[in-house]
Amino acid sequence: MKLVKKRIWIIIAIALIVLAVLLWLAWTYLNGRNGPVWQFILDPEAHQDWVTPAGYQCQDAPFSIPTDGFIGYLYGDVFQVGKRHQGIDIFAGTESGVTPVYAPYDGYLTREESWKSTIIIRVPQDPLQPDRQIWIYMTHLADRYGNSLIDELFPPGAKEIPVKQGQILGYQGDYSGNPDRPVGVHLHLSIVKDDGAGNYLNELVFSNTLDPSPYFGMYLNAKTALKGPPRCIRDTGVD
Ligand SMILES: [Zn+2]
Repeated sequence: MKLVKKRIWIIIAIALIVLAVLLWLAWTYLNGRNGPVWQFILDPEAHQDWVTPAGYQCQDAPFSIPTDGFIGYLYGDVFQVGKRHQGIDIFAGTESGVTPVYAPYDGYLTREESWKSTIIIRVPQDPLQPDRQIWIYMTHLADRYGNSLIDELFPPGAKEIPVKQGQILGYQGDYSGNPDRPVGVHLHLSIVKDDGAGNYLNELVFSNTLDPSPYFGMYLNAKTALKGPPRCIRDTGVD
């Protein structure tokens, strides 16, 4: 009899621990940036005050915001254990193919032959460190089926086409590579390092990318981000 009682208590204790862990996971999930991103995707109209407009440029910052939307995920956000986000995600809150994407800075645009949704802009002189070259990588410019939403000026195989800051490049889409699992309509942007020989490094590796915060003059790093939609570093006085 005593043994049965003991077992029941052990089961209750385990159940309580599991419940506590689940509650903690749900709380951290919703309390991070996932909560706001889902709120925005489900009802963008109700959260238009979270939107940063395309072309917006913080004082003294070299780059302009490339598209209308809520800057929902930041540099260094963790989606999977051990994997940090190499850039920022800007959610349009519209259907695929509606919200234009513009060049955030002058450079030379390349689109590899196999790229349905991706473009990369070579910036010969990093405005913050002029002795080096950097690259601006932008993706999800295709619909869920892989129909490209990139402007026809930049067909597959396009190489080194000069683009000016503010020039239209295409539209936000939700292409993930799998039509059954589209991502929410957004633009992913990463600033990618050069290998020193004129080629861009693999943007999937976090250490190959740069913190976009100083380029946009905004709090875009998950480590230093303030609550709410990203704001200009200058305006907050928290530099
Ligand atoms: Zn992203």
